[in-house]
Amino acid sequence: EQRVISVFGSANMDLVAYVTSAPSLGETVMGRAFHTVPGGKGANQAIAAARAGARVAFAGAVGDDAFGTELRAALVDAGVDTGLLRVVPGPSGVAHIVVEDGGANSIIVIPGANGTVTGPDEEAAAVIGRSRALLLQLELPMAAVVAAARLPGAEVILTPAPAVPLPGELLAEVDLIIPNEHEAAVITGAADPGEALEALLDLVPEAVVTLGADGAIYGSRDGTRLRQPAVPVEAVDTTAAGDTFAGALAVARAEGLDARHALRFATAAAALSVRRRGASPSMPSRREIDRALARPEDAGSLGGAH
Ligand code: ATP
Repeated sequence: EQRVISVFGSANMDLVAYVTSAPSLGETVMGRAFHTVPGGKGANQAIAAARAGARVAFAGAVGDDAFGTELRAALVDAGVDTGLLRVVPGPSGVAHIVVEDGGANSIIVIPGANGTVTGPDEEAAAVIGRSRALLLQLELPMAAVVAAARLPGAEVILTPAPAVPLPGELLAEVDLIIPNEHEAAVITGAADPGEALEALLDLVPEAVVTLGADGAIYGSRDGTRLRQPAVPVEAVDTTAAGDTFAGALAVARAEGLDARHALRFATAAAALSVRRRGASPSMPSRREIDRALARPEDAGSLGGAH
C-alpha cells in the first residue's frame, strides 16, 4: 500500500496585481494585469507533493465563498485528497499581492478560514497517524500547528514560515525542519547559514537550510553534512520554490531515498518550478522531475524561460 503524506496547513487565494509602481497610501494607480492563483503554503506543499508522485491528504479549512470552492478544485485537480478540508462560515484566506515591474512585491495576508482552525479533528488525526509524513507550516494558528505535531505516527516536517520564534513544545515534535536562510537566522540568531544549520541541530534531529539560487545545506545529528547546489535555470518566478522543495523532499523521503538523493530530487523539482510563473501552476510533475534527474549532465536543459 502506498503510504500517504498528510499536509495540515493553509489554503489562500492569491490575488495578484501587476503594476509599474505600487501605489502609496491614498494613491490610485492603473495596473497592467490581475490574476487569482490558488496558494497558501499548506495547499502549495500538498500540490507539490501530489504532483511529485505521492498520495496526499490535505487537512485545513476554506470559507463558504467562491474562493473556497476554487481552492478545493485546485487541490482535487492536482490529485490531492480533500476529504479532510473543512468548509467554515465566512471568507477563505486571501493573500493580496502587488508585484511591481522588476519583481519587487508587497503582500497582505488575511487568514480568513485558516485563522479559525484549532487543530486536526478526529478524522484528520486518524489519517495523519497513518501517514508516512506530516508537512506543517506556520500559516495556521500556532496552537493548531502544535496540536498536529503532537499526534503520534507520522514523521513531522516543518517549514517555519512565516518566520517567528518557535515554541519549545513545537520543536520537541519536529523531525526535520526546512527554513530558508532568513527563517534560519530568525530561529537561531545566527546570520551565517552554516552556523544556523548547526544551531538548528541542537533543536531538531535533521535540518535543511534552503539558499535560493545557491541550493541547500543539510545536516543530521548522526553527523551527516551535505551541500546541494541548485540546478542553474533562468528564474522566471521563485514564488513557492520553497514549498515545491518541501513537498518534493517529503515524497523522496517517503519513498526511502537517502538524504543525498532526496536533496537532489527536491532541488530538481524546485528548479523546475522557478522556470514557470505562479505558485501551484508552476509545480512539476513526477515525469518532469525524473526526466531532469536522468540527465544531470544536461542540467542546462532545465533552463530556458517559458
Ligand atoms: P519562496 O519563498 O520563494 O517559496 P524560499 O525562500 O522558501 O522560497 P529558497 O531558498 O528561495 O526558498 O528556494 C528553495 C529552493 O528552491 C532552493 O533550495 C533551490 O533548490 C530552489 N531555487 C530557488 N531559487 C532558485 C533559482 N533561482 N534557481 C534554481 N533553483 C532555485
